[in-house]
Amino acid sequence: MRLTKFFLPTLKETPAEAQIASHRLMLRAGAIRQASAGIYSWLPLGFRVLKKIEQIVREEQDAAGFQEMLMPTIQPAELWRESGRYDDYGKEMLRIQDRHERDMLFGPTNEELITDIFRASVRSYRDLPQLLYHIQWKFRDEVRPRFGVMRGREFLMKDSYSFDLDYEAAKRSYNKMFIAYLRTFERMGLKAIPMRADSGPIGGDMSHEFVILAETGESEVGCHRDFIDMDWISSDIGYEDDLQPLVDGFTAKYAATDDQRDGEQEKALGDDLVVGRGIEVGHIFHFGNKYSKAMNALVTGPDGADVAVEMGSYGIGVSRLVGAIIEAFHDDDGIIWPEPVAPFRVGLINIKVGDDACAEACGNLYEALQAGGVEVLYDDRDLRPGVKFAGMDLIGLPWQVVVGPRGLKNGLVELKERKTGERQELSIESVLARLAT
Ligand code: ATP
Ligand code: MG
Repeated sequence: MRLTKFFLPTLKETPAEAQIASHRLMLRAGAIRQASAGIYSWLPLGFRVLKKIEQIVREEQDAAGFQEMLMPTIQPAELWRESGRYDDYGKEMLRIQDRHERDMLFGPTNEELITDIFRASVRSYRDLPQLLYHIQWKFRDEVRPRFGVMRGREFLMKDSYSFDLDYEAAKRSYNKMFIAYLRTFERMGLKAIPMRADSGPIGGDMSHEFVILAETGESEVGCHRDFIDMDWISSDIGYEDDLQPLVDGFTAKYAATDDQRDGEQEKALGDDLVVGRGIEVGHIFHFGNKYSKAMNALVTGPDGADVAVEMGSYGIGVSRLVGAIIEAFHDDDGIIWPEPVAPFRVGLINIKVGDDACAEACGNLYEALQAGGVEVLYDDRDLRPGVKFAGMDLIGLPWQVVVGPRGLKNGLVELKERKTGERQELSIESVLARLAT
């Protein structure tokens, strides 16, 4: 993509309303634009990142055996009356009436709708488990939308749902998601620590929030120091194998969200205790037959008797992740995207537009990189080099290739790694070889 053609409305001034780095940087880098409080448009740069994150989430859900579908954003109120949540949800739910004065709502989550779909078509234990997910916009009229996309009112969530015959089977589904989440966040370069979370009225140990430690996190969390340098999972997972030992390896160590923290356990940890602020990027939750009972989602078991299915739901804040990743990876100059989610892998800077040799070298590099499957943003604007360097640092592409007349005389261009700031003078061939995917 040529920057002269790319819609990238960067801002020079730091927007006054933005309190944290990710929000400031997303606005300054032209990644998003606020439509109204907590509601954002995703401009091309931000949208590319959102799509990359979404795709990683999708691939790991698919690998764990969950099937993608798509439910609507607008739901009928009657389903929520069945479950009892239409009144419970209060003002956070955006309620709408259609032209026939039927009560509708913009979905804040999808347990009711998926349960309705399930009960309409699944009747026998033989058809279990059912593992389904979708990636869809949600609306929650948060009391205090803030921090940009981190706590929005409209936000993109991946939500999965599992339906099983009994607790043991539900645990297998839960474990699949537990491992899939570790892999998902790890692929984005994030260390999301699985922390014991509130499991609601049914109790039990099957509720974990996946939390990234960051100063700007909204809540205080505590965990064992070992999580900080623990090796995350990199090997292939056999999702049909017994995952319990693997999951136990992660849950054996203390890690708890704010309302689950335990003073005595923390004291016993001594120097091994890490207390910090956390950003919740995902939540997995087993809630038994809460909705299946209320909504009559029954299957016939092996003994011929009807049972209300055991359910779990599993969310990932896809749009929140864009902000969370920036909180984890930025410096004073701007964003530092991890490669797997970067909007482009390479920023190509022509520092002397109008110089024939520079134009030719840039043109060749641009073509060759693209032919090799590398995503390039080519800054071909006629601006001062300093402005172009600052702009490239701000938008945070992992690699920069700088082409200028002086280096070209010796057949050299500069390769800069955004993360380390390291620069190297290399021939065009070596740059191409280094950046080849
Ligand atoms: P929180 O405690 O942050 O309000 P929640 O417990 O209400 O979150 P869940 O219902 O578990 O959230 O939703 C699943 C995921 O969706 C969360 O882990 C989070 O990453 C994301 N999420 C929730 N609310 C928002 C929001 N207002 N803006 C952006 N992402 C959100
Ligand atoms: Mg939660």
